[in-house]
Amino acid sequence: MPETVFDLIVVGSGMAGLSAARRASSRGVSTALFEQSMYGGLIINVNELDGSIAGAGAGIASQAMSDALEAGACSIEERVVDMEASEDGFTVRSEAGGTCHARTLVIASGASLKQLGIPGETALESRGVSHCADCDGPLFADRDVVVVGGGDSALQSALVLASFCRTVYLVHRRDTLRGKSSLANAVLSSGRIRVLWNSCVESLIGEAQLSAAVIRDLASGTSHELECAGIFPFIGLEPNAGFVLNRARRGSNGALETDSGLCTSVPGLFAAGAVRSGNGGTLEDAIVDGQRAADSAILHLRRTWRKHTTA
Ligand code: NAP
Repeated sequence: MPETVFDLIVVGSGMAGLSAARRASSRGVSTALFEQSMYGGLIINVNELDGSIAGAGAGIASQAMSDALEAGACSIEERVVDMEASEDGFTVRSEAGGTCHARTLVIASGASLKQLGIPGETALESRGVSHCADCDGPLFADRDVVVVGGGDSALQSALVLASFCRTVYLVHRRDTLRGKSSLANAVLSSGRIRVLWNSCVESLIGEAQLSAAVIRDLASGTSHELECAGIFPFIGLEPNAGFVLNRARRGSNGALETDSGLCTSVPGLFAAGAVRSGNGGTLEDAIVDGQRAADSAILHLRRTWRKHTTA
């Protein structure tokens, strides 16, 4: 990456980052957009989105990327590993060792799926342990699988898997589902989904492939082996904020705290989407967050520019 200076750097090309980059670029702000692997973020794993923006996640992400590039954003396919602040802005450093500077920065690096942290999980990754129902569901046609969690991601994935698998066991640690009622009702009325209430997964069994999960009944304290070919843990998200300045305030789960203008505790440093505390979590929320963070960054640029030129 050549050493470059922009008005704004957006870190992360999920829907919040793409929306921020498009907004800023279309208002004439020179914008660098960093992405470590695939643009689109978590929605690219969803074939059918069920909110007010319906359609295939990959198609929506692809359109958003085209829109951002057409507006003038400069895409840099490198992973940001570090950043520092100076009087005139921020410098980010990529894994490849390059640096890039801007007067404002929007962190839109999203969140990653949490791991169960149980024996067998790492060894059986991609050998039965999966994080994408739409991509891997057909591999488990007519087999039994386990989904862990009671939120929207778990419910949505269980419904996708129910169209391929013989039985989907939804293992949830409580006696009520957390996800939205439309998904919960569909899960509870599906003939192929069996909810194991007040239960958790203790460990996974299998050599070359997953063969069973050990399920613990939290009420009775007893455990049993449940034969299954696949397991899909959807137990929440962890914000990807490890590379962000330590002095940017975080909430208890590590998400960045922002004010009403999506500014973090560091002036000029904004956060949008799942990496920030209090984001709603839907696609619509991510898009609106990106726009708001870009607008605040533009305001910051104007203010600091005025200060700079009148000094
Ligand atoms: P989430 O809402 O945080 O739900 C996580 C679920 O996993 C909860 O039911 C939680 O149990 C359970 N859990 C947490 N830690 C666990 C552990 N160690 N062992 C077993 N279970 C555990 O996460 P999410 O479903 O990934 O959703 C994240 C955000 O994206 C949410 O804002 C959601 O609304 C949004 N989203 C929206 C859609 C949609 O609109 N269609 C789809 C996917 C995601 P408790 O209930 O006991 O806390």
